[in-house]
Amino acid sequence: MNPSNEELTQILTKIRTDLSSGLLYTHTRLNANTTKTLETASFLYALIELLNEKGLLSIEELDERKKQIAARLVKKFVESGIGLMYQDPEHDKYTFEHEADVDCQSKLPVCKALCCKFPFALSRQDVEEGIIRWEFGRPYLIAHDTDGYCVHLDRETYRCKVREHRPVPCRGFDCKNNEKWKVWEDYDRSLINSKLIEEIDGSDGFHLYSKTKSKF
Ligand code: SF4
Ligand code: SF4
Repeated sequence: MNPSNEELTQILTKIRTDLSSGLLYTHTRLNANTTKTLETASFLYALIELLNEKGLLSIEELDERKKQIAARLVKKFVESGIGLMYQDPEHDKYTFEHEADVDCQSKLPVCKALCCKFPFALSRQDVEEGIIRWEFGRPYLIAHDTDGYCVHLDRETYRCKVREHRPVPCRGFDCKNNEKWKVWEDYDRSLINSKLIEEIDGSDGFHLYSKTKSKF
């Protein structure tokens, strides 16, 4: 069935909002980075020249120390979440062999696909394939709608609309035994963990992502 004009307008508005949000992120980040880089470089070159002229440091010493500090900074940058977020480690989703053995069919009326509200980073494979959508403002966390669910979830059936292409965390998530995401108070008795629902509904995806890093 073809979408109505009203639905088309809604889709276009959503695309525009997503694009604006992504461009805003990119421009803001680029601008801030360029300004900081220029400022820092000026200070540094000035300092190095002065110290070298005064015989207080040699370029060899400087190179060695630079390597050590660079490693520390890269670690901090990754932890702060301002860089691109990718799955780590990455697996080929089409040959992934550790699919979880969970009876979602019988649990869906209770869990309502709670796991499809979890934030996680896509793999390079997901991003390059271009099927799974990601948050333009938080590249490359999987895209969620305002109701907290992944954009690929069918809200009536709680089924994944991109099942063939779903990312590895969706394939491997085992809600029976997962310590990071404790979906169930008691899996066998289908008692859901309402505290987790509250936590997810009350927080933004990135902070949850920082806490857990993945669905596994
Ligand atoms: S993995 Fe668990 S939480 Fe996710 S849909 Fe299946 S039963 Fe529900
Ligand atoms: S891709 Fe599918 S399985 Fe994965 S979170 Fe989205 S709706 Fe759920």
